[in-house]
Amino acid sequence: MAHVLVLNAGSSSLKFGLFLQGPGDPQPLATGLVDRIGGAARLSLKSAAGEPLLKTDLPADQAATHHGALHAALSEVETRFPDAAITAVGHRIVHGGRDYADPVELTPDVIAGLRTLVPFAPLHQPHNLAGVEAAMAEFPQARQVACFDTAFHRSHPFVNDTFALPRAYYEKGVRRYGFHGLSYDYISGALADMAPTLHAGRVVVAHLGNGASMCGMLAGRSLASTMGFSALDGLPMGTRSGQLDPGVLLYLLEQERMDAPAISDLLYKQSGLLGLSGISHDMRTLEGSDDPHARQAIDYFTFRIRRELGGLAAALEGLDAVVFTGGIGENSARIRHQVCTGMGWIGIELDKDANAANATVISSDLSRVRVLVIPTNEELVIARAAARLAA
Ligand code: ADP
Repeated sequence: MAHVLVLNAGSSSLKFGLFLQGPGDPQPLATGLVDRIGGAARLSLKSAAGEPLLKTDLPADQAATHHGALHAALSEVETRFPDAAITAVGHRIVHGGRDYADPVELTPDVIAGLRTLVPFAPLHQPHNLAGVEAAMAEFPQARQVACFDTAFHRSHPFVNDTFALPRAYYEKGVRRYGFHGLSYDYISGALADMAPTLHAGRVVVAHLGNGASMCGMLAGRSLASTMGFSALDGLPMGTRSGQLDPGVLLYLLEQERMDAPAISDLLYKQSGLLGLSGISHDMRTLEGSDDPHARQAIDYFTFRIRRELGGLAAALEGLDAVVFTGGIGENSARIRHQVCTGMGWIGIELDKDANAANATVISSDLSRVRVLVIPTNEELVIARAAARLAA
């Protein structure tokens, strides 16, 4: 039977999912994670229902590289699913540059093109491509398909695609690419199924996880997003700063004498909720804390979401629905409440009980704007694309 493998290779982790190809949507069979690659790597596997199937340390030779980690993960998959015939591998690739607005089969030419984008996403793209190489060595007969975090946003009009820098930089690729596109793609499709009228209208989606961004969608397509050239812009995140006055960077360079690696570390790993709270990057921990700095970090997070919501509604020339997704968006009634309180002016009225229950529709019957909670499923978007291109 034809199966699809979904891979998401990060700097020190490899997430994977096995799907059975069917006449309809690919059916998930198992998901897994190898983390701490390059150190004391561990492999864990869960059933499609989320039950843990395995947690084990990898031997040193497999723990050291993405190739070793993938090999270990696949041996485990083969033992548990001996009939699995993997005909397609779908890869999450952070950057598709200006050209890719859709998934694409990974040929040598395409891979060479994606390598030229490494300078645009140096922390992610090389690891994504290492995952591609490992999968090609492991499954030479399978179709390899790239699905891009940027692709969904290629429909941005020029004003949402550019910065006000001299034109030459735009031509060189200094553009507002936007990210989390696989999640927005999933939400757009889910909304089309469950609420076609809303899908056809003006929708703001808030993807709130460790990484966080928002997307303004018009008729299911991205019109604007809060992330720009890199995954640093827009909302504050677990450890990333979000939007920052570029003058701060000049100050860090000139007055604090920081170099590029130090600034990168500051902005990607020490800022956001962690930097502001001094306690944790994790929203659950902050919600459980009495420390006033935890409170301020949460307040800043929700304040920025509210500001961006207003901005995106203006870009969309109105608002018909707001969708919350991602680990925080799907689970934190407190954050959703804090974002939506006092938003009557834009047409949002929350139903407190529905919100507390994490219901799908959390706006009241009187609310002009529908507010929804929809769990995202980026892996399914990749599995669908890989199955489609391999057919
Ligand atoms: P990633 O971007 O790594 O995929 P997730 O989408 O899994 O991250 O989101 C992780 C975030 O979701 C963490 O900050 C975590 O604390 C938060 N989260 C998960 N469940 C809850 C909850 N019940 N209440 C508040 N925050 C939650």
